[in-house]
Amino acid sequence: MRFEIRKRDAAGRLGKFTTNHGTIRTPTLLPVIHPKKMIITPKEMQELLGIEMVITNSYIIRKDNNLRSIALKEGVHQLLDFDGPIMTDSGTFQSYVYGDVTVSPDEIISFQRDIGTDIGTILDIFGTPDQSKEEASEGVSTTIIRAKESMKLKGDMGIALPVQGSIYPDLRAKCAAELGKLQADLFPIGGVVPLMEQQRYPELIRVILAAKQHLPMHIPVHLFGAGHPLIFPLAVALGCDLFDSSAYIKYALEKRMIFSWGTLHLEDIYELPCCCPICSQFTAQDLKKLPQKEMIRQIAFHNLYVCMEEIKKIRNALDNGTLWDLVEQKGSENPYISDALHILRNDTQKQWLETFEPVRRKKALTYTGPQTIHRPILYRTHQRLLERYPLTADTLFIIDEKEVSYADAKNVTISTLFESSDDIDIIIDSSLGPIPLALYEMYPFAQSVFPNTLDQDTLEYTKRIFSAFTKNKKIKYLKGTQTAVQSIKNSMTQTESSFDHQKIKAIAAMQFGLQAATVLFDGNITLVKSKKTQKIRNVFVDNSHVLSFRASDGFFTLKKAGAFQLHKALPFPSLRVIIDDEAAPFVKEGKSVFSKFIIEADPALRPYDECLIVRSNDTLLAVGQCLLNPLEMMQFSHGQAVKNREYFS
Ligand SMILES: [Zn+2]
Repeated sequence: MRFEIRKRDAAGRLGKFTTNHGTIRTPTLLPVIHPKKMIITPKEMQELLGIEMVITNSYIIRKDNNLRSIALKEGVHQLLDFDGPIMTDSGTFQSYVYGDVTVSPDEIISFQRDIGTDIGTILDIFGTPDQSKEEASEGVSTTIIRAKESMKLKGDMGIALPVQGSIYPDLRAKCAAELGKLQADLFPIGGVVPLMEQQRYPELIRVILAAKQHLPMHIPVHLFGAGHPLIFPLAVALGCDLFDSSAYIKYALEKRMIFSWGTLHLEDIYELPCCCPICSQFTAQDLKKLPQKEMIRQIAFHNLYVCMEEIKKIRNALDNGTLWDLVEQKGSENPYISDALHILRNDTQKQWLETFEPVRRKKALTYTGPQTIHRPILYRTHQRLLERYPLTADTLFIIDEKEVSYADAKNVTISTLFESSDDIDIIIDSSLGPIPLALYEMYPFAQSVFPNTLDQDTLEYTKRIFSAFTKNKKIKYLKGTQTAVQSIKNSMTQTESSFDHQKIKAIAAMQFGLQAATVLFDGNITLVKSKKTQKIRNVFVDNSHVLSFRASDGFFTLKKAGAFQLHKALPFPSLRVIIDDEAAPFVKEGKSVFSKFIIEADPALRPYDECLIVRSNDTLLAVGQCLLNPLEMMQFSHGQAVKNREYFS
């Protein structure tokens, strides 16, 4: 089995998961198929809903003489009449719901292997939320022992090892770390159905975070029993790849209809607020009048359509970098999700999430509410401002964002006011916190949409960042753009070119670090500007092309001469991705680097960062662009990790 990342956003992955019965796209939803009562068949799901993988219960199949003999003789794919990948569960959930399960861990794993399941699940111990820590700990120990024993019996079957540990993050972490050492194909996060049924989302999020932070990156993660679209975006943003739904049928049996924002009983629906094929064909009154069995089937169809629509929305968001928007929208639709999001305001969680965060996105950063200011990208930006931005002047000139438009900042008239002093810093006091004028074109500053009236939380948060950034500096507020312009004009004499120099150094410092910024511009700087927009296009130092400026996101693309300088000056392994010598000849021909050839990478690199591709002896081979974060690069064995931009032949 293999898993690779195609695109990413937050800690979520748009992936490809290859099994013995084909490749599926992730994130995805596996509808639960009851082997005896198929109200909608897997084939119908495949044809009508684009379902690529299903999950069924091996315990129920094994208990029924007829089903067992068909499954053993013809295989589980024949039994379900489905040619895509099939995952099986083991009876753990049945033991939680009904008590005793009359099968041993060895028997059930062997049975799953013998019926040709693509991914079988071990008989783990379901850790309930009301367990004491001692009970939960015992369950974790037994689960780990059973996992090790089951590994010996699995044969060629893929295996899922569920992470247990009740509501205790340290037990979840321990279980994840131990199971992570085994060669599993999937890691479900188990024992979470009661948390979801009771909408205890803050605890659910703590459990997911603890597990994810200790599981290997290159194996997909399945949130067991998550079948409601309300939780999908947040779970994906934290790194869950698969979900399974029995909710579609369980709710249908109770005449409850799932919607992306919640659930409604059919009796309470005046008009169907959905345009799926079912809701387009029937009115609420039509549905209510259908014979019982038919009504359940139609509601189940609707429920699955709604779930799949959410999965498709998430995949799009992963592709275009808007997953946090979706997550925050769910927070405004459900108070418990909103509470869960508060956990992500904690610095420890932000630090972890930040490592996955792409340095730039295609779409603007759009404010959805008080949670937006806590996005990991803003955490990084603020940290870098405090750590990397080269504030040199003693007095900072502050302009209120409302008094300066982006057009003003872009307009050279502001920069032409500077006539000869290099020692000036103009800071814009904005909804995102302090923005040095020199960085005004850089993502996410220019590419953000915030309302004029902000919530109190955001105002207080950005005020704190502003105070930290301007600490020990004299501050001079400049009121009104014209006054601002005049005051700056009177108080200093900086040239346009020295503003440009300040700008390129500031951007390089934010992007590559302070030392890199010094190294890159050590020499005679020449800027090539666009004739049309007057924007910087290329930076030459001593006649060598070191950087190109990307107008779309305000970042630099590293050129060969720049890479050469950085390689010479920055200590190993700064900015580097170190690859296996075996792959070096391919990189020298311009081929991109696959994860399996990566030995090490600078832990400070982030997805879409510029990097230096080197051999193990630190010979510089090429300039690259990271597609993954360093941990992922080293752990994944399939898929591209670094795009080759320019190579040294
Ligand atoms: Zn519908």
